[in-house]
Amino acid sequence: MNLNAYISIIFFGYVSVIVAAVAWEAGKPLVIEEVEVAPPQTNEVRVKILFTSLCHTDVYFWEAKGQNPLFPRIYGHEAGGIVESVGEGVTDLKPGDHVLPVFTGECKECAHCKSEESNMCDLLRINTDRGVMLNDGKSRFSINGRPIYHFVGTSTFSEYTVIHVGCLAKINPLAPLDKVCVLSCGISTGLGATLNVAKPAKGSTVAVFGLGAVGLAAAEGARIAGASRIIGVDLNSNRFKEAKKFGATEFVNPKDYNKPVQEVIAEMTNGGVDRSVECTGNIDAMISAFECVHDGWGVAVLVGVPHKDAVFKTHPMNLLNERTLKGTFFGNYKPRSDLPSVVEKYMSKELEVEKFITHTVPFSEINKAFEYMLRGEGLRCIIRMEE
Ligand code: NAD
Ligand code: ZN
Repeated sequence: MNLNAYISIIFFGYVSVIVAAVAWEAGKPLVIEEVEVAPPQTNEVRVKILFTSLCHTDVYFWEAKGQNPLFPRIYGHEAGGIVESVGEGVTDLKPGDHVLPVFTGECKECAHCKSEESNMCDLLRINTDRGVMLNDGKSRFSINGRPIYHFVGTSTFSEYTVIHVGCLAKINPLAPLDKVCVLSCGISTGLGATLNVAKPAKGSTVAVFGLGAVGLAAAEGARIAGASRIIGVDLNSNRFKEAKKFGATEFVNPKDYNKPVQEVIAEMTNGGVDRSVECTGNIDAMISAFECVHDGWGVAVLVGVPHKDAVFKTHPMNLLNERTLKGTFFGNYKPRSDLPSVVEKYMSKELEVEKFITHTVPFSEINKAFEYMLRGEGLRCIIRMEE
């Protein structure tokens, strides 16, 4: 489809016609449509998206196999853009600012935002079922008056989107948005899960379950922390070659063994790993990731988004034996306070993001990004909004 066939009109502060990729039905290709996007209301910001990428979380909710279906909907949450206009009460951002949207927000006022330990903002924490804006309980997107739902407050598969100011991190305008957009979800999530939550000591042993972009960022975090052994676990052996570039030192494909992978790992490590980070979304992998940590001190961190009916089952003795189970959204980073400094890590070359970007497609070919992810090919696919 030729996007030039569509005319995008955006007038500061008015309802405007833009193009967005609309998911009409579960699992069916997205359709590029002309969509009206309303101006931002109180505490909202309208953002011109320049680059967005696909994370597995978008795919789960689009497939709606293990998640509540909500259609028609505009997906997308990993992105970079520029502020077009701001609603009443927005003082932190102005038109022209460079921003990264985040699926979980930071109001800066609630007990969580004030706590040093939590990023689970009372007002703006991830809500995958909502589909409307908080201010008036309505969507800012419509086609001929029919509302199109939002996704996790970001809906970045759109030329323009409306986002709560608390879900936008203002970043260094010199940072290239086509690269740092991947920091707005997957890479920061994996990195933070290791550095902020698992916190492996120098010389320790870390297992990472799932070697997609999130898991490889977790492996990168283990390397930065000085782990001496980083064991990558994945059902797709094609992942292993790439994973070496991210610090993984050993690999286990659970399919190669006729016993549970936690037993395989315990044998490899004299009783278990010091830390494990699960980035698959698969409930069995979550249980294995917990049961493969060493008793006495092992810590497991869950990152994958589970099936809505999943139940975590383990014998309580595994906990009594002094293992710790944790979980995290967005690697415990507070989006507005912490994400700008993750971008600075990239700017100062402490953190490489290019190696996570394996594909790029124009917006008109957004469905290809879904195909790559479903086939387990590559890591992140950047979707360019401008042809
Ligand atoms: P991805 O599809 O690129 O990677 C997932 C990897 O896990 C694949 O390589 C796959 O082969 C592997 N895998 C699947 N089942 C497995 C199993 N049973 N054992 C071992 N390996 C298995 O996905 P991604 O974009 O890297 O996301 C990874 C997970 O993290 C997803 O569940 C996603 O929804 C979740 N996520 C969570 C957060 C958060 O804040 N908690 C943020 C972003 C993504
Ligand atoms: Zn994500």
